[in-house]
Amino acid sequence: MHTPLAGTQSGPATDPALDAWRQMNPKQQPSWAGTPEHARVLSELGTLPPLVFAGEVDVLKSRLAAAARGEAFLLQGGDCAETFSAATADRIQARVKTILQMAVVLTYGAQMPVIKMGRMAGQFAKPRSSDVETRGDVTLPAFRGDIVNGYDFTPESRAHNPQRMITAYNTSASTLNLIRAFTQGGFADLRSVHSWNQGFMANPAYHEYEQLAGEIDRAVHFMEACGADFEALKRAEFYAAHEALLLDYERALTRTDSRTGLPYDTSGHFLWIGERTRELDGAHVDFLSKVKNPIGVKLGPTTTGQDAIDLINKLDPEREPGRLTFITRMGAGKIREALPPIVQAVRDTGAQVVWVTDPMHGNTITSKNGYKTRRFEDVLDEVRGFFEVHRSLGTVPGGLHVEMTGDDVAECLGGSDPVVEEQFDSLYETVVDPRLNHAQSLELAFLVAEGLARR
Ligand code: PEP
Ligand code: MN
Repeated sequence: MHTPLAGTQSGPATDPALDAWRQMNPKQQPSWAGTPEHARVLSELGTLPPLVFAGEVDVLKSRLAAAARGEAFLLQGGDCAETFSAATADRIQARVKTILQMAVVLTYGAQMPVIKMGRMAGQFAKPRSSDVETRGDVTLPAFRGDIVNGYDFTPESRAHNPQRMITAYNTSASTLNLIRAFTQGGFADLRSVHSWNQGFMANPAYHEYEQLAGEIDRAVHFMEACGADFEALKRAEFYAAHEALLLDYERALTRTDSRTGLPYDTSGHFLWIGERTRELDGAHVDFLSKVKNPIGVKLGPTTTGQDAIDLINKLDPEREPGRLTFITRMGAGKIREALPPIVQAVRDTGAQVVWVTDPMHGNTITSKNGYKTRRFEDVLDEVRGFFEVHRSLGTVPGGLHVEMTGDDVAECLGGSDPVVEEQFDSLYETVVDPRLNHAQSLELAFLVAEGLARR
């Protein structure tokens, strides 16, 4: 018998506890269970190599533990729904670049390490409020993300097709490969990232950030003048995250860590449970309670303090540093009332979670011309509310979670170089939720950096 490589996992983990979710009527699953094709795909997925290693996942957990203590800040960003067709070199690179650019600004504002994480290399499954979509007099299954069905509004495309799980795995692998090359191969050197930000500052619309941008510029030049040229300047740690929605897929990629014998979901470093699937006795919470990855849970405005405590007890009974992140998505008009009782309840138990704000999902509106959109001002106001609440309670605002892209799309309204509704017809591309474009993402980073400098 050969000796497995340290941290390498081959074949799905066998612990029966990892299958308990199957008896729990999991929500938001495709209708393909029981077909021979489905069984064949799952057995193939089970033989494919892990996308991430347990050792990397453990390093991330230690970084998140620092964020929970207020010694690091987490930046999570990427598409609402990745698509197979947009997994091109240019677009992946633009997104990673934008996240790195945001991270430099945030690092300066926070004066602490920023953990960089993409909603990338696996963000292919979407929960939907309705199972079907009707256009005119045609009703078809709703689009559930490229891992389940196609976006085109035809019966063939909208049929749930298990073979798409293999394409999702392959697309995740090639995306991750490019991210690793880009962030580890010297292209993401802090000095290049800084020079990209100078391109952004050349637009006079952003003159209010000149002081902060100038300070960062002087800091970079100071390091250069001192001859600072250490490895951390040349490489960036970058982690992959997605919503662990499709439990069959996540289960097939769950492997036993050869070092410890413990199960890790190797589809991504960090996995989160969405607002629609976070019930305490539900399948998603059960499955993720059994893997060792750091886990996020989205919390909407109806969450109670007791809900949060129950989730901690189920998902992090050992109170393991870095294990649990709460991603709050309240809405700008609600966060100042809805968040304090939850944070207080958690604080009073002594549990240390990472508190992250998702200022996108509570602020979705429909534009006059019929597009799903968000106002930059509302996004910013929710972030401000998040900092205010944590400042007043003495707790740690640990991170930011945004839907964004590196491209010049028009999907969210506003910003200093404003996006207006009239641009939607030509520049609106997202298949699910609207994303901040490249410039709006950077502007948000500047505004959050100012907030971090004051926290
Ligand atoms: C999402 O992150 O795209 C999403 C569906 O979020 P939530 O679960 O918070 O609604
Ligand atoms: Mn979304």
